[in-house]
Amino acid sequence: MGRRAGAHRHRGAIPLVNGLARAAPDAEALFFGAQDNLCNLNAPNERVLLSELRDTVVAMCAFVENYASRAAEDRARGTDDVDGAGVGVGVGVGGHGRRGVVGAYGGGMDDSAALARLDRRVADCRACPRLVEWREEVARTKRAAFADWTYWGRPVPGFGPADARLVIIGLAPAAHGGNRTGRMFTGDRSGDVLYQALYDVGLASQPTSVSADDGLELYGVRVTAPVHCAPPANKPTPGERDTCRPWLVQELKLLRPTLRAAVVLGVFGWQAALPAFAEAGWAIPRPRPAFAHGTRVALDGLDLFGCFHVSQRNTFTGRLTAEMLREVLRAAARAARLP
Ligand code: SF4
Repeated sequence: MGRRAGAHRHRGAIPLVNGLARAAPDAEALFFGAQDNLCNLNAPNERVLLSELRDTVVAMCAFVENYASRAAEDRARGTDDVDGAGVGVGVGVGGHGRRGVVGAYGGGMDDSAALARLDRRVADCRACPRLVEWREEVARTKRAAFADWTYWGRPVPGFGPADARLVIIGLAPAAHGGNRTGRMFTGDRSGDVLYQALYDVGLASQPTSVSADDGLELYGVRVTAPVHCAPPANKPTPGERDTCRPWLVQELKLLRPTLRAAVVLGVFGWQAALPAFAEAGWAIPRPRPAFAHGTRVALDGLDLFGCFHVSQRNTFTGRLTAEMLREVLRAAARAARLP
């Protein structure tokens, strides 16, 4: 077959198209998943369906982005083998009988890059009108003490390495803490308590966390929340918690290869985290274990610890002391084989 003039400019395009064709059944499954969810929006449990739809759309974006980035890398290496290698993204019907995605970010993709992409998507989310309005209003009006700050005013992604062995799950960013600094538990009293304790047990590089560029590093630990936007009165609604859950599910899926322990701060976080762990593929005992400070639940390959939240209400009243927090963190670190 004769070579077309200018075909060299498209080196890599044909393998890419072939690869996309091979990937089509997976892409099709994603689109049908979205379509099914759209068709069922009038069903009674509308919120769950919307949440599933969001999960599907997030996965579709990851799928396309993953594919495009691998194709670009392969072209840059001159191997053009993307069509032969497969996309490395598992897509299909979830383990709970729900149409959705399985390991949307996994399967050979660099987890660190995937987590960074997820974090960027989280930071752009505007799914909860009440929280969007609140976080932005707080960012505009500010607290007098922080008048010279440019507030972050957006969702606050998780903080910590992609190969974390321990995850700490809180509630939501504080209006003048994470919502100001753009980093979880940074710039508020709760964070002061948490990072001091992490430092004390050898899991953080410094005892303070004041701004996103203060040099703080976490050793094998990631800190996140089931709700990524600051809520009025620190109280997200159950609907907002459920809307935000897909972000936590995706984060847990990405962390899963290395994750061995989790500390959940407070009952709200506990109630939000258990379904997220279940959706991310861990088997949760039935009946679901109740929250208690110091409780420890063995999931498959992961130890889950309950701990009172590091809120001022708990730390100022002595309900949670520094030593109580360190004890839980030490136990979780041992379970995770850290540091
Ligand atoms: S709380 Fe979560 S789902 Fe709602 S807007 Fe913020 S990031 Fe998005």
